[in-house]
Amino acid sequence: MQVVTVVGGGLAGCEAALVLARSGHRVRLCEMKPQARTPAQATDRLAELVCSNSLRSDNPRNAIGLLHEELRRCRSPILAAADATRVPAGDALAVHRDAFSALVEQAIEREPAIELVRGVVESLPDDLAILATGPLTAPKLAEALGEAVGGRLFFYDAIAPIVSDESIDRSVAFLQSRYDKGDGADYLNLPFTRDEYVRFVAELNAAEKVQPRAFEETKYFEGCLPIEVMAERGLEVLAHGPMKPVGLTDPRTGRRPYAVVQLRREDPAGTCWNLVGFQTRLTWPEQKRVLRAFVPGLWNADFLRLGQVHRNTFIDGPEALAQDFSLRARPLLFLAGQITGVEGYVESTACGHLVARAVAARLEGRTFVPPPPETALGALHGHVTGAAHRDGDDYQPTNVTWGLFPPLVDGGKKLDRKAQMLARARARLAEWLESVEPASRTARIGGA
Ligand SMILES: Cc1cc2nc3c(=O)[nH]c(=O)nc-3n(C[C@H](O)[C@H](O)[C@H](O)COP(=O)(O)OP(=O)(O)OC[C@H]3O[C@@H](n4cnc5c(N)ncnc54)[C@H](O)[C@@H]3O)c2cc1C
Repeated sequence: MQVVTVVGGGLAGCEAALVLARSGHRVRLCEMKPQARTPAQATDRLAELVCSNSLRSDNPRNAIGLLHEELRRCRSPILAAADATRVPAGDALAVHRDAFSALVEQAIEREPAIELVRGVVESLPDDLAILATGPLTAPKLAEALGEAVGGRLFFYDAIAPIVSDESIDRSVAFLQSRYDKGDGADYLNLPFTRDEYVRFVAELNAAEKVQPRAFEETKYFEGCLPIEVMAERGLEVLAHGPMKPVGLTDPRTGRRPYAVVQLRREDPAGTCWNLVGFQTRLTWPEQKRVLRAFVPGLWNADFLRLGQVHRNTFIDGPEALAQDFSLRARPLLFLAGQITGVEGYVESTACGHLVARAVAARLEGRTFVPPPPETALGALHGHVTGAAHRDGDDYQPTNVTWGLFPPLVDGGKKLDRKAQMLARARARLAEWLESVEPASRTARIGGA
């Protein structure tokens, strides 16, 4: 029987190895610990949670909670281990981190179809394999991957906040592209007077920031500096950068504003908008406070995603990956987890789960059918493989958010839009599971 090599015993790699083994396939799982550790790791365990012990909200009205629910319905071994080691944390799914990792490691060690090999992998495997080496992939392997994807391997992500359309004050925001390019109305602009701009820059300077880890220090790309770094460099730097007002006229005054925040559609229907160039390391509570209080028109902003900048190795998923997560340039090599451009423990697990299903399909001579885009799993699949992308988008990693889901056909009633999206996701996942999963084949998946 063909053996699938899985490189990386983190969340995605362990999920993929267990799902494959429990669907009847043989796996060689290669993990570099204890021979080497990434700068973020503190133990030699598999499936280490390197920072928070929270897998975030377990409430399915949040996209992440829905992803938990879907993974449980798919009998994810990692979610089962999280549930088994859960600690009280309100509506969040938080775990006892040592017990969690120990349980996953035990499941791997006890699984007869998995051979666990410890050691650093330095080149890309030639046979059927899954690369799940995470945000801090060891350097030689990262170099080899970089070559395989034509240099499109990145080492930092720079994520800007996203706000929902209905939470933007349209009496302030105006639609216009710079110099009326394109169809003239591709961007929403939030105009500042000089006084408003000066106050905003002062607040950015004073706001609390997430401190970089030692291995992250000051290695920003000049092309995507965090807004607070630009603010620190001088009062006018933002006004000549992402907040430049050139080519724009505020219809309320008939004049060019002193500065603007530009918003770009995140989805074709414009249900949510990205703050262009607003990657930031402000802490999440500070982002909400400063943006709501000091950006005209965002007073009531509903943030679907908040900004981040951190060390992260990832490829350009839509460019490099086929629909089944295999590399277009090397069809025997599949990528899973954070390295594909998902962000977070649960999203990486979800990606590992889907990749295991895709590899199983390849081994069994079936076509991989991805989950529908209306589900949380499908929304992530669409983000990573490009089904949900528009030409010219800058690819950046993301957590699962409602902004990745297709909008409701009739726009949905504002008040219960999330409930409608949730009901739709549940129905679509049930249809998908029924079509792809004859009960007999997957009966053993699940339960760490
Ligand atoms: C500093 C930091 C803090 C974070 N905090 C959070 C947080 O609080 N919450 C959250 O949801 N997410 C957080 N993340 C993101 C989180 O790490 C990932 O979402 C998740 O762990 C990714 O899962 P993964 O399986 O893709 O990679 P990982 O879990 O990192 O697993 C990759 C595995 O591959 C191994 N490996 C790497 N290179 C090689 C090689 N060449 N040969 C063999 N093995 C190799 C590594 O040792 C590791 O065990 C953080 C990331 C970092 C870097």
